[in-house]
Amino acid sequence: MDASGIRRAFELGASLADPINLSIGQPDFPVPDAMKRAAVAAIDGDRNGYSLSEGVGPLNEAIRAHLATDLGWDPADPEIGVMVTSGTSGALLLSSLALLDPGDEAIVPDPWFVIYPQLGPMTGGRIVPCDTYPDFRMTAARVEPLITERTKFVLVNSPGNPTGVVLTDEECRDLADLCRDRGVQLVSDEIYDEFVFSDAVGADGGCPSPGRGNPGTLVIRGFGKTYGCTGWRLGYAAGPAALIAQMRKLQQFTFVCAPTPLQWGASAAFGVDLSEQIAGYQRRRDRVVEMLSPHTRVSTPGGAFYAFFEVPSALGIDGSTFVERAVAHRVLLVAGGVFSSRDTHVRLSFAAPEPVLEEGLEILAGMLAGSLV
Ligand code: PMP
Repeated sequence: MDASGIRRAFELGASLADPINLSIGQPDFPVPDAMKRAAVAAIDGDRNGYSLSEGVGPLNEAIRAHLATDLGWDPADPEIGVMVTSGTSGALLLSSLALLDPGDEAIVPDPWFVIYPQLGPMTGGRIVPCDTYPDFRMTAARVEPLITERTKFVLVNSPGNPTGVVLTDEECRDLADLCRDRGVQLVSDEIYDEFVFSDAVGADGGCPSPGRGNPGTLVIRGFGKTYGCTGWRLGYAAGPAALIAQMRKLQQFTFVCAPTPLQWGASAAFGVDLSEQIAGYQRRRDRVVEMLSPHTRVSTPGGAFYAFFEVPSALGIDGSTFVERAVAHRVLLVAGGVFSSRDTHVRLSFAAPEPVLEEGLEILAGMLAGSLV
């Protein structure tokens, strides 16, 4: 295993006095007060011990209620399991441990979120990348030829990291149908589900999801990105009860439980209105596309806070070299090779204050146009 390439961006940035940091994958707003107060009350109230491995009751119930309104899942259905995990990462690891025996295969998108390829070495399974270039859509047509007798799950991530691409309702349905027909578990990493822009929402106004009306999907979500509390290490997994039961066993012998007082904090999350923050991100998304698309190919992000742009071939350099040159102009980015078998693109995070983003975009536009070396 190599160390995460994103860490290298942090190290490069540490050498700069006043960086224009467009490399960070976390929101730039504070945790909502209601959540802070609930966490502090839990600590003050001496609720600091272990919780049940599936999480504290009120949070588990709040998640079930949320899934009922959001995905149409029956909160009383005994076939549906829900558990709180130590971050979305915890849910990804536990589901992979539960689903993969040595030699089994899991299909993941390329480009991927950095944890996905490592789920192979960590479980003994084999990770099979699904090439989604150049539009970054992990469609059923692209996944189908990769399914073998050893395929145990397909992992989809929409809105995607590093691309921000959001699948449509129809693409989600096709993927769910394919997996059901072929007897393969579909795992949907929806950590950015609350960050979907108005032009990418589904027919019911929410984030398109293969889990919509389909609790056979293992839906994995997080609180960190949505509520600006990545350090709280909280996420959840919901879906087939038999699979969740195995993940719960594995949780007992690894994480034990997610941090208890912070689970109480997250119990206050679902009532929080994020519309202002989402509108702010959509405004920044628009600026990114406006500034970069005259110079290079960039798929319009439908959600999250990333854009994945191509390094124009006329520049004759790869993503890593572009990122190094950007550092010379104080701009911090992450090379596409960190997220992919190719190093042809660059990830920009627009979770940065607007003046910082503007300054960075001016420089990047110059670099992409070849007027700034
Ligand atoms: N999945 C994706 C697609 C992500 O981008 C991230 C975080 N960058 C994670 C999972 C892990 O998130 P968490 O901090 O909740 O473990």
